[in-house]
Amino acid sequence: MSYEINQKLTKILDQIIERNPGEKEFHQAVHEVLGSLGPVISKHPEYADDAIIERLCEPERQIVFRIPWIDDKGTVQINRGFRVQFNSALGPYKGGLRFHPSVNISIIKFLGFEQIFKNALTEMAIGGGKGGSDFNPRDRSEKEIMRFCQSFMSELYRHIGENTDVPAGDIGVGGREIGYLFGQYKRLTNRYESGVITGKGIPYGGSRSRIEATGYGAVYFLERMLSTKNQSLEQRRAIVSGSGNVAIYTIQKLTALGAKVIACSDSNGYIIDEAGIDLNLVQEIKEKERGRISQYADKKGNSVKYIQNGSIWDIPCEIAMPSATQNELTNKDARTLIKNGLIALGEGANMPCTPKAVELLQEANVLFAPGKAANAGGVATSALEMQQNASRESWTFEETEIRLSKIMHNIHDRCYETAEQYGLPGNYVSGANIAGFLRITDAMRALGII
Ligand code: NDP
Repeated sequence: MSYEINQKLTKILDQIIERNPGEKEFHQAVHEVLGSLGPVISKHPEYADDAIIERLCEPERQIVFRIPWIDDKGTVQINRGFRVQFNSALGPYKGGLRFHPSVNISIIKFLGFEQIFKNALTEMAIGGGKGGSDFNPRDRSEKEIMRFCQSFMSELYRHIGENTDVPAGDIGVGGREIGYLFGQYKRLTNRYESGVITGKGIPYGGSRSRIEATGYGAVYFLERMLSTKNQSLEQRRAIVSGSGNVAIYTIQKLTALGAKVIACSDSNGYIIDEAGIDLNLVQEIKEKERGRISQYADKKGNSVKYIQNGSIWDIPCEIAMPSATQNELTNKDARTLIKNGLIALGEGANMPCTPKAVELLQEANVLFAPGKAANAGGVATSALEMQQNASRESWTFEETEIRLSKIMHNIHDRCYETAEQYGLPGNYVSGANIAGFLRITDAMRALGII
């Protein structure tokens, strides 16, 4: 069970909770990882020496800043900006920026903490960090978005750099925002430093297949996981929550590999299209018009159901890929999914399943792919973008996608094998946490007490 935790680790967790009061998402993420480390510490007690676990759970640096900007009416608005530079033992801090009204230090720390392990699993030279703002991009004009991004970067630029800290996108930060952020960075520094941010557009140093990478990567992981049980995606009934970057390319790859995706959502509700989701229409509504998923039902007519609020996980399916946000799939949802015959779940989002939901799914022998492994394709392709920027090359889509699929298969196999090695066959949560932990702490131990 992923949440069994030995005495030494319990004490460390208690101290972390006490030192970081009220940060419930951060506590949850740390609890999940420490809950997997018992077998490692029993076998190799030296991995708890020199307060290495405590150091791993304490960010190297946390930056919180004011973002003043002027809206279209001429009113001054104030938002709060964050960058948590969590761990740089393996490389420059790397992790996205999230713009969403729910953003606070707890959410950024949980994401940054997860990112350390995710990045370690890619075996690339990237440390862990995360940032963002409580800015709500919804219903803001193009010019407001631009002014906000410029103000955000006017502070952030002094803390980042291609060898220091390399942000990217996340919820609410896509190609448009990355363009404005990079533009302002370039202007302030007078340097064309492409490798300072990833998720860029192709004309100014972006990598082909970066947009698709998180969703595609999550499906490659899931496919590999199914293959360990001699199963495939062919003809499988699937549900993907969200309708943003990760969800869209998850739907695309699932469909390409033979599954039938019948539902997706946004924060207002979900649609069910038994004929299979028409991805072009979703993209037109969500990417081009920046509209709501309810418009899909308006455009398609009676064959499509739109359900406001409610849980998308009430729909019977064999494959579930939560790809919206943290804690969106609860224990109640897990029970419903299990009852309805779920065979595999891949987390496209970060920590979308509550701890109790994960426990129930694992107990029911549902194949479960944790986000920090399954959604690592995005950051891995960001690292490929940094490689291309450093060598001033631009690879083809095929070349990047082949690399992505290999990386995802390697991550899968490492999680699978590590779980077996520690006597927890099929437990990808433990496999991912232990494999990530060993790589980071080996580097941290070598670098001394810093
Ligand atoms: P987007 O902003 O492109 O899309 C987010 C989607 O999730 C939207 O459909 C949004 O609905 C929905 N959503 C957001 N917040 C909530 C909420 N509180 N409740 C219900 N629905 C919500 O983000 P991404 O697709 O990039 O990110 C999705 C998840 O994947 C996040 O957890 C992110 O951390 C993770 N991730 C992203 C990576 C990437 O490369 N982009 C890499 C690895 C992980 P609405 O339109 O109504 O806001």
